[in-house]
Amino acid sequence: MSKINYRNVVAQVMTAVRPHIGAGKVADYIPGLGEVDPGRFGFAVATVDGEVHGGGESATPFAIESISKLFALALVLHHDDRAIWKRVGREPTGDPFNSLIPLQLSRGIPGNPFVNPGAIVVTDQLLSDTGDAYGAIRELLRAETGNPQLHVDAVTAHSEETTGNRDRSLAYLVADFGNMINPVHETLDHYFRQCSIMISCEELARAALFQARHGVRADGSYLISAEDARGVNALVLTCGTYNEAGDFAYRVGLPCKSGVSGGILTIVPGRCTAVGWGPGVNEKGNSVSAAVALRAFGRLTGLSLF
Ligand code: GLU
Repeated sequence: MSKINYRNVVAQVMTAVRPHIGAGKVADYIPGLGEVDPGRFGFAVATVDGEVHGGGESATPFAIESISKLFALALVLHHDDRAIWKRVGREPTGDPFNSLIPLQLSRGIPGNPFVNPGAIVVTDQLLSDTGDAYGAIRELLRAETGNPQLHVDAVTAHSEETTGNRDRSLAYLVADFGNMINPVHETLDHYFRQCSIMISCEELARAALFQARHGVRADGSYLISAEDARGVNALVLTCGTYNEAGDFAYRVGLPCKSGVSGGILTIVPGRCTAVGWGPGVNEKGNSVSAAVALRAFGRLTGLSLF
């Protein structure tokens, strides 16, 4: 494997992304996110050898949103790698991440763990496995980043809670089909808080390195097996960017997990992780500037899987 100068790559990514910073629209359906200045941008790379390089606002925390779904899934697989697959599928839905339609057709079995109903079921499972789903995710992130201060943004959590009727509808439909273990309001309380954890590009890149290390955490222990890590990366590739996952696979050629606050994480198995953050998202909920950055990252490093 050739040695890549990641510091140079980050500098070149920053140049490539500059004309696109500010593009897109902030996700104001969650009012707390609507306040964020769309002109912000950060990018970071973390390697399995311990290098971390950042550009722009790579140390600025933002709400993790849907990228938390990756950590919730890993924790559920850590506790029992079979139970969840009776409750959630592994297929992209091709529908918006918060659509009720496929859920009705599949009789309450969400298509995959990264659409909102699937993530809510994963959080429900984690709540049953641990008694504190949000706390388990927060502690994992704190341990992997080495930042014991990682916390929930109360304003974002409150606005998720007060405007979360779509997520409530999804969860109650799942419950109606008998696929929820805990009371809906309890599971959603954990889900809204997990989405509101504040984390920077550099921290997120470090936290997700276990996926590049085939399941191995920062302390050398296994969070999940290498086989599960491979499976999670496959799901991130096929389902991680909502109904734009095909286009991301085509253009970036790496597993990518996005969140509506404008973060996108990519994983290069065996090598590194990278995170772009720009709050303006497109109509599918994916950050415009972070997508440009990850395409540039794939092109400059030649690390596409294909
Ligand atoms: N908290 C957001 C929601 O439930 C997460 C969606 C996302 O980031 O895609 O709608």
